[in-house]
Amino acid sequence: MSVGRFAPSPTGTLHVGNLRTALAAWLFARAAGSRFLLRFEDLDDATARPEHEASQKRDLEALGLDWDGEVVRQSDRLDLYRDALADLQHSDLTYRCWCSRREVREAASAPHGETVGAAPGHYPGTCRELTAVQIAEKEASGRPAALRIRADATEISITDRLHGVVTTTVDDFVLRRGDGTPAYNLVVVVDDADQGIDEVVRADDLLLSSPRHALLQDRLGLPHPDWVHVPLVLAPNGDRLAKRDGAVTLEERLALGDTPERIVAMFARSLGLLGDEESPGGITARTLLAGFDPEKIELQPWTLLPRQIEEPW
Ligand code: GLU
Repeated sequence: MSVGRFAPSPTGTLHVGNLRTALAAWLFARAAGSRFLLRFEDLDDATARPEHEASQKRDLEALGLDWDGEVVRQSDRLDLYRDALADLQHSDLTYRCWCSRREVREAASAPHGETVGAAPGHYPGTCRELTAVQIAEKEASGRPAALRIRADATEISITDRLHGVVTTTVDDFVLRRGDGTPAYNLVVVVDDADQGIDEVVRADDLLLSSPRHALLQDRLGLPHPDWVHVPLVLAPNGDRLAKRDGAVTLEERLALGDTPERIVAMFARSLGLLGDEESPGGITARTLLAGFDPEKIELQPWTLLPRQIEEPW
């Protein structure tokens, strides 16, 4: 049986952009009769909190989005990530890297460091071929080393259900951060495989990360899922939507007199799944399932206008 998922980071209240992605992921899974899992990606940030998990679950439920089985939490699965890292280390596919984020940014933006079309944080290879003497110097500096995969600047193409074929040169990305935390690009691959997820629906700010995931899946002998990257929600100034942009959480919208049905209808319309002429009355996540057609999904980002923030419809 097919399996989809929603994998939020419990670092705050979900905003309408996250909720709209959750609706899309749920529709893809449920319209295909798949299982749908909820996984909390709680490793990455010191701000991950149980109260945010509770509020995120409440908001998903309020929009009629359900999931199967127990919720999975990455902080309970550190052994899995450690084993995957050990596999890669034994195959000599990794190396230690002492570069700070700033150094990577500066090296990548140097005139010869061409990064057009590369994933965010593209690594220029500074620590890839250090001599024994250079390694000893780095070790003596006391700065903790991250662990990177040797990607050998491999060109990888993935096929996304909405974007088609996406090709990028994969850089040597981080698998374990300097503080010992396994990095997103590793854990997402390990978790998706372990949970049998064969369809990944997420926001398209991660589109260029998927070739990295494909490379890692190949190195670890894991299958590729199908990928669907749905467009982001933007604020009126063109930035990705953030909490400062007004009434952007479910609670804030309900306080303005909005209803879960109208919010679901607004998401469906913005995704191209509900025609302008169709009334939002009676729309729920479940009623959208019957007519769900992925071909209709809009590829343009959706801008949440101030008027929509103050006055929902
Ligand atoms: N935890 C990630 C986020 O909240 C989602 C990553 C994914 O779906 O692969 O953006």
